[in-house]
Amino acid sequence: MKQRTIYSFGGGKADGRADMKELLGGKGANLAEMTNIGLPVPPGFTISTEVCNYFLKHHGSLPKDFKKNVLSALQKIERLTGKKFGDPKNPLLVSIRSGARASMPGMMDTILNLGLNDVTIQGLIGKTGNERFAYDSYRRLVQMYGDVVMGLKPVSKDDRDPFELIIERKKENRGTHNDTDLTAADLHDLVREFQAEIRHKLGKDFPQDPTEQLWGAIGAVFNSWMNDRAIAYRKLNDIPAHWGTAVNVQAMVFGNMGDDCGTGVAFTRNPATGENEFYGEFLFNAQGEDVVAGVRTPLAIHRLAERYPDIHKQLLKVRSILERHYRDMQDVEFTIEQGKLYMLQTRNGKRTGFAALRIAVDMVDERLIKPEEAVLRIEPEQLNQLLRPVFDYQEKTSAIGSGRMLAKGLNAGPGAATGRVVFNAADAEEWRHRGERVVLVRIETSPEDIKGMNAAEGILTARGGMTSHAALVGRQMGKVCVVGCGALNIDYPSRTMSVANRTVREGDYISIDGSTGEVIEGQLKTKPSDVVRILIEKETLSEPSPVFTMFTKLMQWSDKFRTLGIRTNADQPDQCEVAVAFGAEGIGLCRTEHMFFGGDRIDAVREMILADDETGRRRALAKLLPMQREDFVGIFRVMKERPVTIRTLDPPLHEFLPHTDKEIEQLSGKSGIPKEKILQRMSKMHEFNPMLGHRGCRLGIVYPEITEMQARAIFQAASIVKKEGIDIHPEIMIPLVGYINELQQQEQIVRRVAEEVCAEDDVKIKYLVGTMIELPRAAVTADEIATLAEFFSFGTNDLTQTTLGLSRDDSASFLPSYLEHGIFEQDPFQTLDRVGVGGLMKIAVTAGRKTRPALKIGICGEHGGDPKSIEFCASLNLNYVSCSPYRVPIARLAAAQSALKQARKRKSR
Ligand code: PEP
Ligand code: MG
Repeated sequence: MKQRTIYSFGGGKADGRADMKELLGGKGANLAEMTNIGLPVPPGFTISTEVCNYFLKHHGSLPKDFKKNVLSALQKIERLTGKKFGDPKNPLLVSIRSGARASMPGMMDTILNLGLNDVTIQGLIGKTGNERFAYDSYRRLVQMYGDVVMGLKPVSKDDRDPFELIIERKKENRGTHNDTDLTAADLHDLVREFQAEIRHKLGKDFPQDPTEQLWGAIGAVFNSWMNDRAIAYRKLNDIPAHWGTAVNVQAMVFGNMGDDCGTGVAFTRNPATGENEFYGEFLFNAQGEDVVAGVRTPLAIHRLAERYPDIHKQLLKVRSILERHYRDMQDVEFTIEQGKLYMLQTRNGKRTGFAALRIAVDMVDERLIKPEEAVLRIEPEQLNQLLRPVFDYQEKTSAIGSGRMLAKGLNAGPGAATGRVVFNAADAEEWRHRGERVVLVRIETSPEDIKGMNAAEGILTARGGMTSHAALVGRQMGKVCVVGCGALNIDYPSRTMSVANRTVREGDYISIDGSTGEVIEGQLKTKPSDVVRILIEKETLSEPSPVFTMFTKLMQWSDKFRTLGIRTNADQPDQCEVAVAFGAEGIGLCRTEHMFFGGDRIDAVREMILADDETGRRRALAKLLPMQREDFVGIFRVMKERPVTIRTLDPPLHEFLPHTDKEIEQLSGKSGIPKEKILQRMSKMHEFNPMLGHRGCRLGIVYPEITEMQARAIFQAASIVKKEGIDIHPEIMIPLVGYINELQQQEQIVRRVAEEVCAEDDVKIKYLVGTMIELPRAAVTADEIATLAEFFSFGTNDLTQTTLGLSRDDSASFLPSYLEHGIFEQDPFQTLDRVGVGGLMKIAVTAGRKTRPALKIGICGEHGGDPKSIEFCASLNLNYVSCSPYRVPIARLAAAQSALKQARKRKSR
């Protein structure tokens, strides 16, 4: 390894910078940056992510000279602190912490107080004169090292942590609930008991040699990059495995040396609501993990001012320096050692969708950032939270009035969740898998729980504060989350939780309100968000809605920056209304077959399918014509002058046939067709591979009268609405075309019918005829197809299916394995396979526009609502993306981000 692997910081100077996250991880890069801008950071060094990758690739061996370089970086810390690693009189203690490029809170491992042993402990006691503190530090080291490096952990899901059990036993013997009541002698005993437990369970000793501890800890942190929870977290957050983690080795400062010490975490703004207030929690006389693990419930940050007004003031100053320097909300960790403040970490803070929106909009108002940056700051998917339901106020009030309120905790993740109670993460996953909505209830959560947290509708914990693991991770996942609900008595073995004299069992329903912290027995109805109420329900709220105002601003900015058009996939007038309210500029896909299921239309459809000949089919189609016409009239009236792409019939016909015996009998009764004949016809229509069978334009080619009826319905509807004074723009789209001749045959029908209707009704209607590109052959012959097609729309659901040879209906059984093994990085039906499917799209765009330079091209597969795929579509210069109505705001934001990122790229070239 040629590159530098170690980057030191301390004494006001650092080798690294904030923009070196790839090498130093987020934590390391920001420790360097904070050092450089003069904030009080204990000295240390960062081992680069490349060493982690080397270590994992070479089965645990380290690059040449690495150990030598670490020891020399350690000497720098020794010089800056005046302490010595392993010194019996004045020992340097260090922390070993992971730190990846993207923050992965709590997923990897940390070891504190490294360098303590049975000898150096005496030096620490001598230096501090505080025996209790020294033994508390030592027992923490043995506990963390025993767990993380040596692997002494709970065995089954209902097991408790073996070290915590020993502590609990000790507290019971001493008749106390608080760690702080344990004496130096108790903690000394704990060290011995922990060491004995390690020896007993693992058959080896806790290492006394500080250097051995150091190599063990560094290796364990590297290995923790590959632990189950880190892998699961990366998968959920699309973090590639090849990034690796950096390791930070830093001089310890102690928050647990006495009552003039403490430790805390803070956000420079409120991470749940986005309010511009310093928001944090801390504990006196404690070490970092006490705050995050939720073992003790921390104090609000302003309480610090009561005892240490100077330190509080200093923190406020750090807050403002950091916000001005990073121009974003920061999440910081700090420690106070004997009245002196140290900063241990800063990073851009995770936040809810509400907070992301508010912080971005506020920072524009405060002139800290520009609207472009505000738009780039919000994850498109986070907008889901603004559209999420809340509890029906009346119902909740009456539930509380009738005594169903169980308890109140901290409102860590906004929104409303109702579900059945489960008490561990594995059950949450399992129950969710069988279709249950669950609320995961834990005393506290740990990183092991993330898959279960992801599966749950909501998360409820008895312990911990707003910065506990449950709160941080829940918020980031956009989960409804209530934490620190101390009144709950949770008993894992009996799978119950009780409050006063009431007991809730596993499987019972509860409702949690993540905006207020209320926990309520039973199910509660939910109600739409402000945005939905105002935009969709057209309600006038009695008070102004800040969320709505900010949402509107964000959407306006997005519209200003984006170049892609945004359309919607909608088949009914009510869906169109929702989409237009969310900002859709047209319909990108109206699947006409969905209309065939409404009311008793299905009878006429079945009659058509079962007809013996064209005459019979035309008779049935004549019944469908007025119904389809009405559908289109409804849609045109809502969409007005916006373009409406209507696709002719696409799915295999047998999808419309009855399935059960009862349905067949009913159909026979209604239509007068004997049951045997229906069965006979059904068996004749049976296909082994319907998705590649008689579907798409092949239907209209074999039965031209179907296309004819649909075209007639479209143009008659267009004529009606045109006469009402609306300038409508229908676009007729032919599905599953692979050969130009297919398109030509269908196009001729459409144009003939259009002419007939326009002549009959004496109207002029401007319309387009185009095709979907959903077969590889269509993509590679796009130049030829574009001689006829006036527009293309990528049907990427089918294009993915046909390019990958992967059934969209059957892949669920093996796709998870593909994802697990990293064969696919993403589900290709969710996020476009840029190389394969995207490669074909590129060919089609280039070839199509070569023939017809102004060719309008869109996408209407599910990928049209996926932010990453939208970015790809923008890079291909498509005209629009089309997605389901509730994803329209997400697509608007994603499109704006894509345009801004493209512009940045162009500028940097
Ligand atoms: C597609 O294939 O991407 C598409 C939009 O059509 P459907 O999903 O109806 O097959
Ligand atoms: Mg399709």
